[in-house]
Amino acid sequence: MVSFSVKTKNELCRMAAGRDCCQRAELYGVLLFASEFSNRRIRIVSGQAALIRRISALFLRVFGFSPEIQAVGGKRALVVSEERCLRAVLGGLGYDYRSYITYHLNRNVVEEPCCAAAFLRGAFLMAGSVASPEKKCHLEIKSSHAILCREVMSLMLDNGLEPKMAERGSGVVIYWKDTQRIEDFLTTIGAPRAAMALMEAKVEKQLRNEINRQVNCETANMVKVTAASAKQIAAIERALMLRGIEVFPENLRETVDLRVGHPTASLAELAAMFDPPLSKPGLNHRLRKIMEIAGQVGEGE
Ligand SMILES: [Zn+2]
Repeated sequence: MVSFSVKTKNELCRMAAGRDCCQRAELYGVLLFASEFSNRRIRIVSGQAALIRRISALFLRVFGFSPEIQAVGGKRALVVSEERCLRAVLGGLGYDYRSYITYHLNRNVVEEPCCAAAFLRGAFLMAGSVASPEKKCHLEIKSSHAILCREVMSLMLDNGLEPKMAERGSGVVIYWKDTQRIEDFLTTIGAPRAAMALMEAKVEKQLRNEINRQVNCETANMVKVTAASAKQIAAIERALMLRGIEVFPENLRETVDLRVGHPTASLAELAAMFDPPLSKPGLNHRLRKIMEIAGQVGEGE
């Protein structure tokens, strides 16, 4: 089974490469979190074919050459060992070729917000993982370089992301456990679908809990109502977060408010809350419109 981490990374790998500055920044994020990044050798290992293809393409576009591909067990390694190529990479990222200390973040490469996001995408692609929506929320990026991690953390703080950091074994992890922050991070680096999946799961969990407290209702029926309503509410909340209520036309805003405000209400119950009451088909029509608009907001990111 494909893990949620792999799905999320595949989503990121499908993203357009973006501006030149961002391509360089993304590759830089990959390199700083790769197995080897020095003036002697660069070595990037992954079991994910889409990721190897993306990184290889980035090398070609940014530095004008393709790394050598080696097989390592069931994985692939991209290797750069030719001096000419190593000079191009280190020089291009603002390093002195002769010095061997590369595990520092050169802020010049990630100055623009677009580039910071691309850099974090590269870091996550290389060293990140995210727990699947059914599990407890957790996203982390691993490294064996503590100073680098502190510098990357300060970059995240500057960009409104608030990670935590912990030592683990000989290395360090940057992590989040808060769903909202994980959604923000995934949206920032270009994985709105993964963020949406987490948000849907969260809303569904909340609604289940609410139902469990309401002992007098018909549970089976409620669960059916809930699944549909959770999907709608997650989509609406996402659209509201990204664009605000203005994204919905005036005549749909009351419906938006009522749907979000009464997550466990059935269609009939919801229709009766309007003044004057709506018909069920009338409400259905409005909800379809709302979902259409909310869906477009996700697509446009
Ligand atoms: Zn950029």
